[in-house]
Amino acid sequence: MEKIKVAIVGYGNLGKGAEKAINLAEDMELVGIFTRREPKTIESQSKVYSLENILDFKGEIDVCILCGGSATDLRSQGPEIARHFNTVDSFDTHAKIPEYFNDIDLAAKEGNNLSIISTGWDPGIFSMNRLLAQSILPQGETHTFWGEGVSQGHSDAIRRIDGVIDATQYTVPIEESIERIKAGEKVNFTPRDKHKRICYVVAEDGADKEEIEFKIITMPDYFVDYNTTVHFISEEELKKNHKKMVHGGRVLRIGETSQATKQVYEFKLDLDSNPEFTSSINVAFARAVYKMRQEGKIGAITVFDVPISYLSNLTAEEQRAKLL
Ligand code: NAP
Repeated sequence: MEKIKVAIVGYGNLGKGAEKAINLAEDMELVGIFTRREPKTIESQSKVYSLENILDFKGEIDVCILCGGSATDLRSQGPEIARHFNTVDSFDTHAKIPEYFNDIDLAAKEGNNLSIISTGWDPGIFSMNRLLAQSILPQGETHTFWGEGVSQGHSDAIRRIDGVIDATQYTVPIEESIERIKAGEKVNFTPRDKHKRICYVVAEDGADKEEIEFKIITMPDYFVDYNTTVHFISEEELKKNHKKMVHGGRVLRIGETSQATKQVYEFKLDLDSNPEFTSSINVAFARAVYKMRQEGKIGAITVFDVPISYLSNLTAEEQRAKLL
């Protein structure tokens, strides 16, 4: 069987996860990792190339998995690479998805390529579950809860405060609120009712801890709308106990199919490694992109546009026999 030839663009957390996931996929082979850094400085068993040379690989790569950050990398890398290769990415700035979709759609069509944007778990398979639940239960409400898990964005925001050496922030769902929703209560929750934030912070010697705590809990956009607890700990304890990238969450839809007939739809993830799980999703969607491009599809698509059977490396017969 001819294998799907996959490249990884960007070797951060997702890039490392994609490398593991491709190695687990029997129907794929890793062409190489493409990085903006000096390839010799990258520690990996795989082939590593400079991103500057990626066009030399035209015809040798079926799909590129773009593992750059959403804040800046993908906004430029996404369209540039979609112009020359089929792509998969995990762009997760929800408010900018429509704009990003248009940029990628234009670039991919220019190059006769197919690009799926915003795969992963949220956006990604959480989005698929929101759509599925809403379609099945048109009368109802959907709620998404995240955690317990590490938010890189919130941890970074704490690290930028003067006097902070390092920090890890956990987003924690409020279980009592989840139970009230599942019991069928009509709720109008604020952000504070749904999640709390717990921060582990390493401060510099002599730093004013009270001031650091005040700066965290009053930080606009990140913390001010939540109940936040701050714990100061040693650098050693942070490294030992708070460096795993655990995450997860739930999509809930509570609907009624007739009067007083309550239906609860719940989809839950509990992840030891957010990036390894996210990139495992990306790899499954790379398989779907390959198949859909072979059928002639070009432009940008999202997870909503992919027939679920295309994610699998089982044949249609095997899927019907084993999974239906
Ligand atoms: P990351 O580790 O910060 O990596 C981002 C890029 O930074 C890499 O592609 C890499 O590019 C560069 N980089 C990484 N380590 C570096 C180092 N030591 N020195 C210099 N450059 C380095 O980010 P990530 O955790 O992989 O996440 C990527 C994006 O995925 C996030 O921005 C987030 O938006 C998204 N995400 C989405 C979901 C979802 O469910 N949809 C879930 C998780 C994450 P080069 O190799 O080219 O230097």
